[in-house]
Amino acid sequence: ASGVSLLRDPRYNKGLAFTERERDAHYLRGLLPPTVASQRLQEKKLLHNLRQYQLPLQKYIAIMDLRERNERLFYKLLIDNVEELLPVVYTPTVGEACQKYGSIFRRPEGLFISLKERGKVLEALKNWPERSIQVVVVTDGERILGLGDLGCQGMGIPVGKLALYTALGGVRPSACLPVTIDVGTNNEDLLKDEFYIGLRQRRAIGQEYADLLHEFMNAVKQNYGEEVLIQFEDFANHNAFELLTKYGTTHLVFNDDIQGTAAVVLAGLLAALKVVGSSLADHTFLFFGAGEAGTGVAELIALEMSKQAEAPVEETRKNIWLVDSKGLIVNSRKGSLQHFKKPWAHQHEPVEDLLSAVKALKPTILIGSAGVGRAFTKEVVETMTSYTERPLIMALSNPTSKSECTAEEAYSWSKGRAVFASGSPFHPVEYNSRVFVPGQANNAYVFPGFGLGLVISGSLRVHDQMLLAASEALASQVSPEDFEKGLIYPPLRNIRKISAQVAANVAEVAYDLGLATRLPRPGNLVEYAESCMYSPVYRNYR
Ligand code: NAP
Ligand code: MN
Repeated sequence: ASGVSLLRDPRYNKGLAFTERERDAHYLRGLLPPTVASQRLQEKKLLHNLRQYQLPLQKYIAIMDLRERNERLFYKLLIDNVEELLPVVYTPTVGEACQKYGSIFRRPEGLFISLKERGKVLEALKNWPERSIQVVVVTDGERILGLGDLGCQGMGIPVGKLALYTALGGVRPSACLPVTIDVGTNNEDLLKDEFYIGLRQRRAIGQEYADLLHEFMNAVKQNYGEEVLIQFEDFANHNAFELLTKYGTTHLVFNDDIQGTAAVVLAGLLAALKVVGSSLADHTFLFFGAGEAGTGVAELIALEMSKQAEAPVEETRKNIWLVDSKGLIVNSRKGSLQHFKKPWAHQHEPVEDLLSAVKALKPTILIGSAGVGRAFTKEVVETMTSYTERPLIMALSNPTSKSECTAEEAYSWSKGRAVFASGSPFHPVEYNSRVFVPGQANNAYVFPGFGLGLVISGSLRVHDQMLLAASEALASQVSPEDFEKGLIYPPLRNIRKISAQVAANVAEVAYDLGLATRLPRPGNLVEYAESCMYSPVYRNYR
């Protein structure tokens, strides 16, 4: 491209950063004002502009517009300001963007596959301008963040997630494909909304749903090959578990809500246990919430214990208990339990509520993912503190209003003894003239590097050992200084380095298990991962 079309092509446009020589060589004379700006200066200006906006959604629209104008500048800005911009490009702001997606929709940023595309899914994939895709993130919009069914407007999620695959994990932007499957929505407000962009019908279920998904899964593999990663995102839990099981043996699939969360939380635990000075097997775990997050984390903990203790996973699961909306999951409920809860139905008399479960089981580690705010009461925390020196408390539910307790509550109710981390960010807390910095169990710590590891090794399948390897990589990045502050996660500003470590560990497992197709195996996987990462620095055009 040259001239105006070069300026309008977001992949190559550099705006004021085009040099004099480039302006001569590419017919740009007169199309730009005289100043030649550095990428650094452009970044500074944009950040300044973004900070002027009062509303998060305005920031979101502005930064996504930048992506449409100048892709490299967008990624440069995001990479250099991860801590500030992650909440704009992803949760929580992306949630609001999805809610209003109908009115802010401008240009398609991903593929829409609806029931209208039945029988034509492959055709739709071929309409996408890029040929070589490495990562697909797909949602059906049924459980967007904590916001519920947003139907077709869930598109903001795969778009945002893939921006993080690139910014944090270094997967090339052109190799990323966001997809929204539209089978209708059960959200009455959207069905009535004149600006709604999706199918105006209630959700298709059963065979009709399964058939569209199946056509999609096969078309993706046929079009992009066996090594394309398909990441499921924000599906309702019945479909999420089923799809993962169904396609886990035939496709390279990953569910961040289940597996990514599991790896991030396990990493936090492994790091925390270094502070506490014990091992997983010394602990009793209680989960409040037994859905995608809860059972996913529980299973990965059981697997890690099984690996550490060389004990069968059926044994290690016995130290882990879960509470759902009907109380403690126990053996007598087994007949009526959903499939994914069955492994957790241990022998115990029925227990109705969380506090009673805490008293009965004396957990030393308490993990909340029920989406019920304020569930970790003063009494719950005090009870834990009465029998354990360092209670470990993770309040994962999002957004902040759903958090099981605040950081301040965890530290003060435990008299400064709790190790605490949460799903939503909390400010540092001063208690008894000590400052505690709560860690955030952000999925962004793992999935970008995890995807990169699969891509650079050409892995054909995801294996649980890779999740464990990712957790260990993340836990190893927590420094003694972080621990000192109470942190069980490393600072997000180091995320590219962390992602490279995660990627290397994941790739290593892929090679060890014979799942990798990129041969020969590189000697130093960390260096190799780093060398594969996309850099947003401008290119020079001759
Ligand atoms: P999910 O699959 O819908 O699971 C929710 C679980 O909570 C279900 O087991 C449900 O019980 C249980 N529950 C609901 N109300 C309850 C109550 N009053 N008492 C006890 N249990 C109750 O959702 P999910 O994907 O696991 O996500 C759950 C929460 O975790 C969300 O707030 C999400 O934002 C958060 N999360 C955080 C992270 C992170 O921090 N990195 C990652 C993932 C998810 P039933 O099974 O009986 O319905
Ligand atoms: Mn999600």
